[in-house]
Amino acid sequence: MKVFKFGGASVRNAEAVVNVSKILLNHLEEKYIVVISAMGKTTNDLENLVHAYFNQEPDILSILEKTKAFHTEILESLFPDTKHPIYAELHNIFVEIEWILEELPGTNYAFIYDQIVSYGEILSTKIISYFLSDKGIKNYWLDARDCIKTDNTYREGKINWEKSIEIINKKTSSIFTHTNFIITQGFIGCTSENYTITLGREGSDYTAAIFAFALDAKDVTIWKDVAGVLNADPKLFSDSILFKRLSYNEAIELTYYGASVIHPKTIKPLQNKGIPLFVKSFVYPEGEGTEICGEGYAEPNVPSIIIKKNQMLISISSKDFSFIAEDNLSFIFELFATSGIKINLMQNSAISFSACFDYDTHKVPPLLEELKKTFKILFNESLELLTVRHFNELTIQNLTSKKEIILEQKTRNTAQFIYKINH
Ligand code: ASP
Ligand code: MG
Repeated sequence: MKVFKFGGASVRNAEAVVNVSKILLNHLEEKYIVVISAMGKTTNDLENLVHAYFNQEPDILSILEKTKAFHTEILESLFPDTKHPIYAELHNIFVEIEWILEELPGTNYAFIYDQIVSYGEILSTKIISYFLSDKGIKNYWLDARDCIKTDNTYREGKINWEKSIEIINKKTSSIFTHTNFIITQGFIGCTSENYTITLGREGSDYTAAIFAFALDAKDVTIWKDVAGVLNADPKLFSDSILFKRLSYNEAIELTYYGASVIHPKTIKPLQNKGIPLFVKSFVYPEGEGTEICGEGYAEPNVPSIIIKKNQMLISISSKDFSFIAEDNLSFIFELFATSGIKINLMQNSAISFSACFDYDTHKVPPLLEELKKTFKILFNESLELLTVRHFNELTIQNLTSKKEIILEQKTRNTAQFIYKINH
């Protein structure tokens, strides 16, 4: 049993879906869990819908219309017969969304977010499952919410491993007796009260790892629009190079610092069971890609460059300029944790503590309000965080010479810089 994961870019239009079916046709020798994300930028569009709905803006339905039109165009291309049952199926899904939108939103943004944004994955997997069946690729559409069980942390569901493992094994073993492909959704799960939850943006990779862990998969392949794991984003750096192999730990470090090729939570479960992870191109599926496995490979001898955009840096000091010490720090960390904000870089001095994090318009303002009650806060917005793993001075000079650096930090392996973006 193996696991495949196809992300949004790999199913962004009809042609891409056909490409996925071709990849699966080349893998008829094994049983596969195929984890699929929402198509193209659907999750972003649904996020906009949630935003408009939550604020009761006038254009709610026209935003939903965009998602409808996008999927309808793909449908019309993949299923020329408009009497095909997929049309009714999708129609019903959109009616369900409209039902939600007819009610008033209530106050729990994260809950509403999950109830609506999760439909992206439902839509994509329905379309793809039907399309594969039409192409003669027998498959079973599995609702991931019946398998991935979580707590109530909406937008970042924490996995109930014991329960999920038990259910995944029970459900899939009987399905695999009559089909080789199980098509399921990434990114979504279900709370103990049976509400839909999401696992955090780009969380489909994590879903693939959860299924792989639960089922002791032979390996996992994440199909991407890049050749594999590269030392830098090829859209920003034309001379980026492909890693043929990375240890689990190096991959964890790279994703922790923001390498967006794999979701950071994906690797640990695979490492714990020694399940290899392949990152391959869906454009050149015959390419070798990157294999992430094992420990203690020689560290890469080229620097890896990671840029995180949309960062905020705040500096926290006590109102009377007394020291920021352990008692203050534990209180500050507590506030960050309860706001669901992850610190990407931190530094402290006697009288201040600085923290850099992604600017989330819903999570950050309430955190700042809370902090201001006790502390004096200074902040900078619209920053970038540059991380260079296995750095050398020349690389750093090239990357930072024209930048207005406002904070830097170096360890033996990793150099980080926060700078303002020049407009
Ligand atoms: N569709 C979700 C997102 O765009 C999950 C994923 O793609 O992994 O964040
Ligand atoms: Mg995605």
